[in-house]
Amino acid sequence: MTPAFHPASAPDFVPRSLVRELQLARLRQIVARAWERVPLFRSRLDERGLTPGDLHTLDDIARLPFTTKGDLRDTYPFGLFASPMEEIVRLHASSGTTGKPIVVAYTQADVNVWTSVMVLSLALAGVHHGDIVQNAYGYGLFTGGLGAHYGAEGMGATVIPISGGNTDRQIMVMKDFGVTAICSTPTYFLHMIDRAAQMDVDIRELPLRVGVFGAEPWTESMRRRIENLSGIKAYDIYGLSEIIGPGVGIECPHQHGLHIFEDHFYPEIVNPETGDVLPDGEEGELVLTTLSKQAMPMIRYRTRDITALIPEPCPCGRTLRRMLRIGRRSDDMLIIRGVNVFPSQVETALLEVEGTLPHYQIILTRFHGLDQMEVQVEVTEETFSDKIGALEELNDKIADALEHVLGIRVRVTLVEPHTIERSEGKAKRVIDRRLPS
Ligand SMILES: [Zn+2]
Repeated sequence: MTPAFHPASAPDFVPRSLVRELQLARLRQIVARAWERVPLFRSRLDERGLTPGDLHTLDDIARLPFTTKGDLRDTYPFGLFASPMEEIVRLHASSGTTGKPIVVAYTQADVNVWTSVMVLSLALAGVHHGDIVQNAYGYGLFTGGLGAHYGAEGMGATVIPISGGNTDRQIMVMKDFGVTAICSTPTYFLHMIDRAAQMDVDIRELPLRVGVFGAEPWTESMRRRIENLSGIKAYDIYGLSEIIGPGVGIECPHQHGLHIFEDHFYPEIVNPETGDVLPDGEEGELVLTTLSKQAMPMIRYRTRDITALIPEPCPCGRTLRRMLRIGRRSDDMLIIRGVNVFPSQVETALLEVEGTLPHYQIILTRFHGLDQMEVQVEVTEETFSDKIGALEELNDKIADALEHVLGIRVRVTLVEPHTIERSEGKAKRVIDRRLPS
């Protein structure tokens, strides 16, 4: 197979030494920009007795202070901006679940970089000129919608800006408009698959060929399930608003790790507890530095996402390093009776058991001071109409599978298909009813 590369893909193949040279030059510039224009960053460098001139090699980045989500909240709304408002052409914000949201800003040059990395992302996933792209990411303050929109339009594909929600209309458009590529959260696409079946539409018979899924962690088992049910290739895309939005990295057709657009985003993996930089191959927290962002440079931003950089070059020939796909975030971690539990582990266990659907919810309660975890799992129509004995057997099987992965026995409740509330964006996996202690 001769892979057809998008004409914009040239930077993906630049020799490593040139990539590193470029990174160092850009790092110096961005640190100088933040030092000159962002008081919080300047005071932190001053405390350490550092100036931008102290960056001699890329490894010197480890001497710089981290930036956290808390810093964005504390300086709400515009405290970390490095460009005057008249140069800022776009603002986005996160939906703050508690208190203030975080606000991010873009100059025209930042929007152009964002578009270019999204063009490259979609190209890596095999989307091309002539594709009809259904963009079911939410439009608005959330970066997903406009990020995918500009990327798809920038590569000359046809964009359908349908946004999230109204699933019946999504299915109708997918079918009637001959959609060939879709962008959404993986859980919302699963919901579309379900709904399509109810509407007697078989997605496998449609021209839909590729899905670019992101904005929430999802597992390899979930990918297999999506690919089997829909007959498409499902790619994992990664990004976050604090850095740029979607387009920080994406899988290539080898689907082993996500290539990071390292000419714009410098990745490090650190020990989440000590903050020490870890060597390639070791698992830890992803820390990203924006190398070209003007309006809001992020220096050593703690993403809370747990992953590792893959040391080996990719068989696709791209020189951009890869990171393992993100299965969990350090702030997703639940502590149940002293044991660390991640929702992604629950997902993996459930998807291995026949007769279950990938729709589940974790419910936490506290009884007599002891944490209780219940996993509600939807089972297939067939299974549910089976004899009681069969359900009990399945219940035990799931409890065993969960115990095997989590190391603790948790309560399992099987529920009918379509009982668990569907999300049109990021799935809500955990309901915590424990009273604050
Ligand atoms: Zn590759």
